[in-house]
Amino acid sequence: PIPKEPPKILRLEECVVNRIAAGEVIQRPVSAVKELIENSLDADSTSISVVVKDGGLKLIQVSDDGHGICYEDLPILCERHTTSKLSKFEDLQSIRSMGFRGEALASMTYVGHVTVTTITMGQLHGYRATYRDGLMVDEPKACAAVKGTQIMIENLFYNMAARRKTLQNSADDYPKIVDLISRFAIHHTHVSFSCRKHGAGRADVHTIATSSRLDAIRSVYGVSVARNLMNIEVSDTGPLNSVFKMDGFISSSNYIAKKITMVLFINDRLVDCGALKRAIEIVYTATLPKASKPFIYMSIILPPEHVDVNIHPTKREVSLLNQEFVIEKIQSVVGSKLRSSNESRTFQEQT
Ligand code: ADP
Ligand code: MG
Repeated sequence: PIPKEPPKILRLEECVVNRIAAGEVIQRPVSAVKELIENSLDADSTSISVVVKDGGLKLIQVSDDGHGICYEDLPILCERHTTSKLSKFEDLQSIRSMGFRGEALASMTYVGHVTVTTITMGQLHGYRATYRDGLMVDEPKACAAVKGTQIMIENLFYNMAARRKTLQNSADDYPKIVDLISRFAIHHTHVSFSCRKHGAGRADVHTIATSSRLDAIRSVYGVSVARNLMNIEVSDTGPLNSVFKMDGFISSSNYIAKKITMVLFINDRLVDCGALKRAIEIVYTATLPKASKPFIYMSIILPPEHVDVNIHPTKREVSLLNQEFVIEKIQSVVGSKLRSSNESRTFQEQT
């Protein structure tokens, strides 16, 4: 090859940098919904409702009855790295809120049009403000408002032609959004959730606050699922004297499904854990004669310093300090629960 001059290195414009980063945090409409719901949960809401138009590309609207946002904070609300949840890096070790890095709302303003309506306790009226590229467009306008905050994202990815095209060509995100809200709803049973398409009279998810997890699962996933679930619990002291707790519901041998449903919360964060999912599937395949896939709801509580929440741009995954120990423990408990239910069933069938 002929020797060439190296290409010149240039500094990217800030708005380009921000839009690229935003595209990683908000990968698709369902990622925006997840961030908005997590904000509503962080704001101590007891009721969260979601409205979606055109799979989220035209409109995503999340309304809550949480503590609201102060008028003085509205100007910087959607700037990158502005947050009420974290002040120093060390706080990440013990963080209890879902959010921590002040990126979500900012990201949405770089790839969509954001309108926030909010009212705080004791105020007679609320405020509405709109945002573009991290900045508030005009002074907030006084407006009527009920308790809490409503955030509206319009025209998501209007400025990302390729992203919009791929999303428009594939099936829309609405089923993913319904699935996401279903998962939140069975974990946060003290919060009522609803989700519907814009203009639709009927909601596709609708829960009322309850104290019973099984009732919540029944109302979201149906009687046929709830009927075939078994409660499962673990509490153990692992390596380094760390206390680890798990409680959940797993399907019995009577449950029939072609696909696994695995709803996993670790320290109240909705996450994926491929290794745990595989480990559980292996137990089911080995224990049950039929090739039915399980339904699993699990909530795992670990010491916060054993969970690294900062490894994934969409916070979809977390990494655990004693992952092998935790997985083995859960695998063995699931195995014995399943075997005992299966044996009693075989016994019943024989007699
Ligand atoms: P993070 O959640 O990481 O702090 P976000 O960009 O998601 O960052 O939100 C920025 C800030 O806006 C939050 O720290 C919170 O103070 C405020 N906020 C966002 N959504 C809501 C809401 N629904 N209710 C009350 N405050 C909110
Ligand atoms: Mg957030």
